[in-house]
Amino acid sequence: QRARQADAPTGPGRTADGHAVPLLANVGSAADAALAVELGAEGVGLFRTEFLFLDRKSAPTVAEQTDQYAEIFRILGDRPVTVRTLDAGSDKPLPFLNLPAEENPALGVRGLRLSSVDEGALLDQLSAIAAAATRTGTPVKVMAPMVATAEEAGYFAAKAGAAGLQSRGVMIEIPAAALRSEQLGARVDFFSIGTNDLSQYLFGADRMSSALAALHNPWQPALAATIAMAVSGAGRHGVKVGVCGESASHPEFACVLVGLGVETLSMAPRSLAGVRAQLAEVTLEQCKAAAAAVLSAATADDALRAARSALGRDK
Ligand code: PEP
Ligand code: MG
Repeated sequence: QRARQADAPTGPGRTADGHAVPLLANVGSAADAALAVELGAEGVGLFRTEFLFLDRKSAPTVAEQTDQYAEIFRILGDRPVTVRTLDAGSDKPLPFLNLPAEENPALGVRGLRLSSVDEGALLDQLSAIAAAATRTGTPVKVMAPMVATAEEAGYFAAKAGAAGLQSRGVMIEIPAAALRSEQLGARVDFFSIGTNDLSQYLFGADRMSSALAALHNPWQPALAATIAMAVSGAGRHGVKVGVCGESASHPEFACVLVGLGVETLSMAPRSLAGVRAQLAEVTLEQCKAAAAAVLSAATADDALRAARSALGRDK
């Protein structure tokens, strides 16, 4: 792994023919942010904020949140950061919210849905993100997790706008959001596709179940088809689309995502080098051919084989 990182090209993500694909990091702590900088991330595509909320008896105050966000923004210098609002719920319980137990926490009151129980927590978080960005001068974007409908997208964009946040997006991780991406896209500035949860809900397969790993294989053609649908709806409004799920960290699948029209890729910092190296070896046309091959494949195995061939990796 180390040798591979040392050999990999550095600098911004781009294909062999110069198509820029900003390579961003997923971070959830100051240590992650430092690693992202060290490994050449061009920004943060997913700042998970759960670390500030879990295992606490009371909610963090706005001042406390502002300090913590600003600390991480400072580590990232002038790089852009996409902050995701709290993605907790009954599976990652918040003692101070007193949520009732749920039979199916993954299908319960989680992510943006928490604002129906405690809107104040969302408003406090948005104020803290805006204050931290003002303090450090960070180009910040904000997005909500677990959004299913255009109403929810509009609600979030309005609350974030009222807090002074100009760039507002939603995660696409529920199939309904991908199906209605045109209507969601009319209400926000960007989409970030969370393929971990999108696979879970698309295939009806618990993301934690190793017995169901075959359904979480990113080469399942239904995943690419769903992403293509989200990109197409976004395109009608000039809404930019990134991917921040695990699938973006597979070098060959990252090329497929680019071919589907995804503009930025966000991943664990240690995955950046492999994806950067792979992108540098293929043209945008090859990425598009690989995407088309996956969309017309019947099975995950066929999709992988066909994409490898389109990318010149079957020799
Ligand atoms: C996802 O669901 O793909 C995602 C990036 O978010 P998380 O893994 O934090 O649910
Ligand atoms: Mg998710």
